[in-house]
Amino acid sequence: MNWYGRSLVSGCLAALAGLASLTAQAQAQSYPTRSITMIVPFAAGGPTDVIARIVTGHMAQTLGQTIIIENVVGAGGTTATTRASRAANDGYTLITGHMGTHAASVPLYPNLAYHPEKSFEPVGLLAGTPILILARKDFPPKDLKEFVAYVKANETKVNAAHAGVGSVSNVSCELLNSVLGVKPVGVPFNGTGPAMNALVAGQVDYMCDQIVNAVPQVNGGTIKAYAVATPERNPSLPNVPTTAEAGLPAFQAQAWNAIFAPKGTPPEVVAKLNEAIVKALDDEAVRKRLLDLGSVIPAGADRTPAALGKLVNSEIAKWTPVLKAVN
Ligand code: ASP
Repeated sequence: MNWYGRSLVSGCLAALAGLASLTAQAQAQSYPTRSITMIVPFAAGGPTDVIARIVTGHMAQTLGQTIIIENVVGAGGTTATTRASRAANDGYTLITGHMGTHAASVPLYPNLAYHPEKSFEPVGLLAGTPILILARKDFPPKDLKEFVAYVKANETKVNAAHAGVGSVSNVSCELLNSVLGVKPVGVPFNGTGPAMNALVAGQVDYMCDQIVNAVPQVNGGTIKAYAVATPERNPSLPNVPTTAEAGLPAFQAQAWNAIFAPKGTPPEVVAKLNEAIVKALDDEAVRKRLLDLGSVIPAGADRTPAALGKLVNSEIAKWTPVLKAVN
């Protein structure tokens, strides 16, 4: 091909590339034009599912499109997160991840098929979720001091429910167990929705979990809460002491849930989704539902995609040495 032919070809290619980027831009500007799938990496009825449903219910109104929740379970939430990382990066498939899927899983799964920072665009933080130490209602210990003594004395007999290796319930109880120096049997579920049902039914002994689906059960007396692992008590459970008040200050844990999009999702799309999250978090009805369930609503500065990116980075840095030491 002579120089004229070559420059014609490269001119056409440049025009095509320009056209493609214009189309992508136009698509991002008109986003969303159809329903959005929100992957929830745990079973229905657990904290991640409940928070995702509360916030996306409002986001759907802002965006003018349905948001369909798809519960994809397995491997402590990493199966779903792998799937979300491989989805088209057009804003129509998102995931509500958490401290487990987007931080703790990194040191726990050496062959993880995604990386929370490299495979996703952070979209926005939805809620902070204090961790509670919970037990079936007829578990013998009356308070945290008795719990500590009982679990130490019955280490080989007691069991702890969790939502799979790397889940929040798993890593927070691993941390608790390492503080206590015990290794009880773990009982995995597809999420702490089903794990909570087993706790209510008295089929498992204890669990450490995000406050959200525990509040109605604790208040209804179907399970008991020994302590909340945060510096302050939670207004939704004012009678539950902090771990420091109850004699175990070394156990501190708080988790969070947030929305992520596959890497390369256009910035305009991420911005629209983030705006919809912010609107939801400012809505009185959404706030009330989240607060009634004990969650902590992120303050303004913590709501940006950049702030979520920083959180993921600092949480990986925080949990990696802790979990390596525990293992
Ligand atoms: N709270 C859970 C966890 O332990 C998962 C869930 O939301 O069901 O990671």
